[in-house]
Amino acid sequence: MAKRKIAIIGLGKISQDQHLPVIDASDDFVLAAVVSSRGLGHRDVPSFRTPAELYRAVPEVEIVAVNTPPPVRHAIAREALEAGKDVLLEKPPAATLTELADLEACAAAKGRVLFATWHSIFNPAVDRARDLLAEGGVRSLRIEWREDVKKWHPGQDWVWEPGGFGVFDPGINALSIFARIMPSTPFVTSAELVYPSNRQTPIAARLAFSTGDRSPPTLSADFDWREKGEEKWHMNIETADGRSARLFKGGAALSIDEKLVAEAASEEYQRIYRHFAKLLETRRSDVDAAPLRLVADAMLLGRRVATDPFAW
Ligand code: NAP
Repeated sequence: MAKRKIAIIGLGKISQDQHLPVIDASDDFVLAAVVSSRGLGHRDVPSFRTPAELYRAVPEVEIVAVNTPPPVRHAIAREALEAGKDVLLEKPPAATLTELADLEACAAAKGRVLFATWHSIFNPAVDRARDLLAEGGVRSLRIEWREDVKKWHPGQDWVWEPGGFGVFDPGINALSIFARIMPSTPFVTSAELVYPSNRQTPIAARLAFSTGDRSPPTLSADFDWREKGEEKWHMNIETADGRSARLFKGGAALSIDEKLVAEAASEEYQRIYRHFAKLLETRRSDVDAAPLRLVADAMLLGRRVATDPFAW
């Protein structure tokens, strides 16, 4: 089958690090154009300043990936759906739950495929963890997702603006895994959100969760952007049947009772694009709002704590 023509909107860090090289090497997709408000390009493909210019000039491009920051994602995605495009959304899929619901409804009404990606769940170790918890149940699960914002988001001021998610930008990756592997629906019961006194989004968050189970497990998350040195992207799990597991390296590795049972080279974006090709073939959308709901609930329940001003 001929490769599907796709355009990327927003040529920032994740487009450069993952989407462009993965599409360039893909058997399913060929990059046909890019949209960059700064006028960046990639190889010899045409580059446009706005999506509208792309849709006018190259109408045969029927698929776009929207890789901008979340506050502008809804408007760009809606414009694409209304122009009759199938749409892949970087995470988080929108700035609010209602924006995401609107995109889902619009895609359904227009008969377009909408794929809200959560890259961290595209790891074999995450599937193994999900199977483990389905079989053995959960007694406790403790998430630690701590990294240095200056290393991972250098100069990205949008993360500190309303709708920029702050520490929930990486934290939502952990929550996407958490929502995926838990055998029953977790919900936030309390949240402490730590805000730099000069910023609009939290630099750290501590969350507690529960479930509707008769004896709910002990569930918590610790997100922090002030970690120095090696990042910590892991979860420690005790199963109800007495095993102890650790999902680490951002979901790429799983050990059970200290024995490594799954570890694969990170191919999250290769898997994302293979899954997208299947969705396009079967004309199905894939939109899971659960990770975004958990962040929204943490914001609804959060107790605010002020800390030192942040400077890059
Ligand atoms: P980034 O480096 O700041 O790039 C975002 C790009 O979007 C900009 O370079 C710009 O590209 C475009 N853009 C369009 N409207 C914009 C606006 N109003 N403000 C700022 N940029 C605008 O961000 P990123 O790290 O690639 O993150 C983009 C999305 O990918 C985020 O939702 C993030 O959570 C997700 N993500 C990031 C990573 C990572 O490692 N960085 C990993 C996974 C997912 P043009 O100038 O070309 O238009």
